[in-house]
Amino acid sequence: MVNLLGEDNKDIKTEIKKIGVLTSGGDAPGMNAAIRAVVRTGQYHNVQVIGIRKGYNGLINGEIKEMYSKDVSNVMNLGGTILHTARCPEMMTEEGVDKAAAIYKILGLDALVVIGGDGSFRGMESLAERGVNCVGIPATIDLDMNSTEYTIGFDTAVNTGMDALNKLRDTSSSHERCSVVEVMGRDAGYIAIWCAMVGGAEDVMFPEEKGNIDDAKVIQQILANRSIGKRHNLIVVAEGVGGTQKLAQKIQEITGIQTRATILGHLQRGGSPTAVDRMHASMMGYHAVKAILAGEKNKVVAYNRGRYEILDLKEAMQMEKHIDREIYDVIKILAI
Ligand code: ADP
Repeated sequence: MVNLLGEDNKDIKTEIKKIGVLTSGGDAPGMNAAIRAVVRTGQYHNVQVIGIRKGYNGLINGEIKEMYSKDVSNVMNLGGTILHTARCPEMMTEEGVDKAAAIYKILGLDALVVIGGDGSFRGMESLAERGVNCVGIPATIDLDMNSTEYTIGFDTAVNTGMDALNKLRDTSSSHERCSVVEVMGRDAGYIAIWCAMVGGAEDVMFPEEKGNIDDAKVIQQILANRSIGKRHNLIVVAEGVGGTQKLAQKIQEITGIQTRATILGHLQRGGSPTAVDRMHASMMGYHAVKAILAGEKNKVVAYNRGRYEILDLKEAMQMEKHIDREIYDVIKILAI
C-alpha cells in the first residue's frame, strides 16, 4: 500500500506486522470510531489488523476477521460496536487467560488493542503477565476510569440524558409535576452530575454521596421551590443510588405534588456518537497504534489536561480520580 503521507513513517519500527483489536465490557457510543482509527492507522503503516469479535470471548474462541479500510466505512456514525462486545467470565480464570494468551501467540499478533472499561483493562493486566502486549483505549459511558479525564461514550450518554430531561421538563412544567429521573452510573456519579447540571435539575443524588443522601432534605427543597413559584422540579438519581420509584412515591405522598419516576436505563448506551466522542475515539485509536509502532508495551491511552497521553498500564490502574464536587455545589446554587 502506498502511504500518501510518507513523512509519518519515519519513527516506525518495522517489526510490528500484525495487531489485534477488540471491544470489551459495556458498549459505548464512539467505539466504532476507535475501531476505524485503529484499522486505518494500521493499514496506513502497512500493519495487518485483525478484528476480534465479542471481546475476550472472541480471542479465546478464535472468532476473528482481517479488517481493511473498507470494513470500517460508514461506521463512525453508528452507536454500539461493529465487533460486538461481551463479558467473558472465562477471563476471570487462570485457564481462560492462558488460553487467550496462547491464541494471541498462535495468531502471531505483535500487540492487542483493547477498547473498553476498567474491567477490560484488568483483563489486559492478566494478559500482560503472560507476554501479551496490550494497549488500552478507555471507553465507557460512565467516565469512571482513574487514569483519564475522558472516556469514549460519556458525551453521547450525557447528551441523551440531557435530551430526556428537556422533554420531561416540558411535560412536568405543563402539569406542575415533579420528575425523578434515573440515569446510568452504578458506581460513579459523573453522568448524574453532568445531566443534572446541563438539564437544569433542582437536585441530584449520586453514589459518591450515598452516605449523605437525605430524602427529607430533597423533599423540603421541593416544597420550598413550590412556595417561590417554581412550576416543576427535576431530580436526577444515579442508578447506583436506586430507589427511584420509591422516592417518587414518597415525594408525592408528603408534598401532594404529582410525581413521576422515569428510568432511562440502557437508552443512554445507544445512539449515534456526538462529535466529542468521535473526535476522542479517532485520536485515541490513532495514538494507540502509533504507540505500538513506536515499540511501547502494555500501555493505555489517556486524555488529561487537554492532551493525549500514553501511560504505563500498571501505573494507570493505580491512579486515583475523584468526582468534582464543585459541580454539585454549583447545581445547588443554580437551582434557586
Ligand atoms: P468494562 O470493561 O466495561 O469495565 P467489565 O467490568 O464487565 O466491563 O469487564 C469486561 C471483561 O473484562 C470481563 O467480562 C472479563 O472478561 C474481563 N475482566 C474483568 N476483570 C478482570 C480481571 N480481574 N482479570 C481478568 N479479566 C477481567
